[in-house]
Amino acid sequence: MAEGRPDLVVGVDLGGTKILARAVEPKTGTANDRVKMKTPAGPAAVLDALVTTITQVDGWSDAAAVGIGVPGLVQRGGIVARCPNIEGWDHPVPVADELTERLGRPVIVANDVNCGVVAEHRLGSGRGFTSLLAVFVGTGVGGGVIVNDHLAEGDRGMVGEIGHLTVEPGGRPCGCGGRGHLESYAGRAGIEGEARRRAEAGGPELLVELAGGGPIKSRHLATALAKGDPTTLELLAEAADALALTIGNVATLLDLPRVVLGGGVVDKLGDPFLDEIRQSRRFGGFGPDIVELVSAERLDDAGAIGAALLAAERVGALVEA
Ligand SMILES: [Zn+2]
Repeated sequence: MAEGRPDLVVGVDLGGTKILARAVEPKTGTANDRVKMKTPAGPAAVLDALVTTITQVDGWSDAAAVGIGVPGLVQRGGIVARCPNIEGWDHPVPVADELTERLGRPVIVANDVNCGVVAEHRLGSGRGFTSLLAVFVGTGVGGGVIVNDHLAEGDRGMVGEIGHLTVEPGGRPCGCGGRGHLESYAGRAGIEGEARRRAEAGGPELLVELAGGGPIKSRHLATALAKGDPTTLELLAEAADALALTIGNVATLLDLPRVVLGGGVVDKLGDPFLDEIRQSRRFGGFGPDIVELVSAERLDDAGAIGAALLAAERVGALVEA
């Protein structure tokens, strides 16, 4: 296997629509060359496209390692069990082994949300904290956990799946098939589902009207909130309560002094939403006094850079001065 330069790692963000690769200096997290490609359908074509993208990155042949963030469930050894956003990826594929073989250097594969958490920990709002929870509230709710400066993953890749913690046994249906999970109360899709159910049952329809024929987006939530729409106020209060319950519980369990929140919903609703979470009467565990809630830094290309930093750490490349 190629030796490579310890000061250069390629980081890749595999998305449902595009593949993005960056050349990253692990010591500083500085990203250089940037290569983009469309994501094809099916795992075999995706692996080919990954090789093509990576080998176009300036200096890649000197890279000590490659890190790849994927939008799916990653099991120990870099096996990607499934990627719901990539057509035809419904069975386990040993991505790390196959690409290590084809690229001739270590390839580390992790969940894309976890890569974002690593970037936030090293370069963003989590800097200086040895343990950290990051929660991203978007269409769904994803998260990641850093313990003693290392990303926690678990054999089955489930560490950080905060969106599927139960906040209301037997409650709203969740996209995973379960019920009453955080994501079905705080995620944009969960809020949308409830807003549409209420509108169909004859309730106020502002959110549905604002969305026109399309999905109810985070900006529609912000607009309806600014107008004082009672349904929106209620749904967002429920979202804040669900987040407060889970974040408080996790912060207590793992002794976390800081939790970073990001994602489309948090970005659009801003500090007032964080305040609502802090002030929720359902805040879990030892309550809001033990944990500080802060916004994520919204780093550019966080997924690709985080994947590179994680790969550097795993292969022992130069990560600190
Ligand atoms: Zn769920």
